[in-house]
Amino acid sequence: MSDLSGPIDSHCHLQNLPPDERERALDAARERGVRGFLVPATKLNEAEEILAFCHRHADVWCALGTHPHDASSWQDGDVDRLRSFLADPKAVAVGECGLDFYYDYSPREAQLRALREQWELAIDLGLPVVVHNRDSNEEMLDVVREDAFHELQADFHSFAGGLAMGRELIERGFYLGLSGMITFPKADNVREVIPILPPDRCLVETDTPYLAPVPYRGKPNCPAYVVEIAERLAREMGESFKEVCRRTGENFYKLFWKAKSRRILGQKAQTAYQ
Ligand SMILES: [Zn+2]
Repeated sequence: MSDLSGPIDSHCHLQNLPPDERERALDAARERGVRGFLVPATKLNEAEEILAFCHRHADVWCALGTHPHDASSWQDGDVDRLRSFLADPKAVAVGECGLDFYYDYSPREAQLRALREQWELAIDLGLPVVVHNRDSNEEMLDVVREDAFHELQADFHSFAGGLAMGRELIERGFYLGLSGMITFPKADNVREVIPILPPDRCLVETDTPYLAPVPYRGKPNCPAYVVEIAERLAREMGESFKEVCRRTGENFYKLFWKAKSRRILGQKAQTAYQ
């Protein structure tokens, strides 16, 4: 049903671009064949604006939640607030949530509380989570191993956690999102996970506006550049670009299942009104 002829950018913070540039960034990406976009929120105050943006575009969905940098803003009542936002058909995941002990912008206790409460909500709703993890491998794995999160479905986005962590996450059934980092000449430590990554567990993403791939490194990133990331992944996997687009696209619609059903419903609705 869904168009898998081009890559899907599974992680682009379009809300961080000025409003007029958001539309241009989408159009530029569509012209290069990009077939879908997932915009992850970083705080609940962005949710309404992001949802409105998604509703203007048939090929854009979002994750809603609180990033570890903003975990100190997470408070009593936010679970219910987030729950009501997630009832929207365009909200296909919880996130981005996680741990970041590199910047430590929020106290670690606050990060862990926001993480657990968002994951509990995701399990309650049967939704996947989009996970950020930096310099917190051990603590992240400790939470992942908790009985309460046995049924968690997750995209560990812009994965750079190394071979041991990658192996455990794959064994637990999670998806890994590969970003422009896989194109960086010195990033063998990021690419090392590719040979052990099953084709049905990988996603591609830009993490716009950060981490622009080679040859755009140092410039602001944009969703059009997911093409370079999928091309590099194809080279690393010894697959064709077309095959990587098809597989990562299938993975996207499997993990973010609300995007799939929405797309089909949208097509039906269109036909009904024709
Ligand atoms: Zn992000």
